Amino acid sequence: MIAVGLLDWRDSRHFDDSGDKPCTQCRTTTPMRSHAGEPVHKVCAEDWNDRNPDAPRVRAVSDKGTAYDLGTQRYHSDPPKKHRKGDR
Ligand SMILES: [Zn+2]
Repeated sequence: MIAVGLLDWRDSRHFDDSGDKPCTQCRTTTPMRSHAGEPVHKVCAEDWNDRNPDAPRVRAVSDKGTAYDLGTQRYHSDPPKKHRKGDR
């Protein structure tokens, strides 16, 4: 079994400054958006992933050719950025 872990939603596209909308999971309003533009809290998306381990996954391949899991197709982390300077 794969641990989903926390989503990486640092990209500004996950924040909609046009206003809050009801989260599709908990109904509390949120400015957060999924990659598909769905209003959802990051924690609610992580929770949904935990509860839907059989949902289709998104995978990415690192510079070294290692495949790893970004989450579900509905809620997944931002793909890794190419710049590596300062990392590790
Ligand atoms: Zn929520």
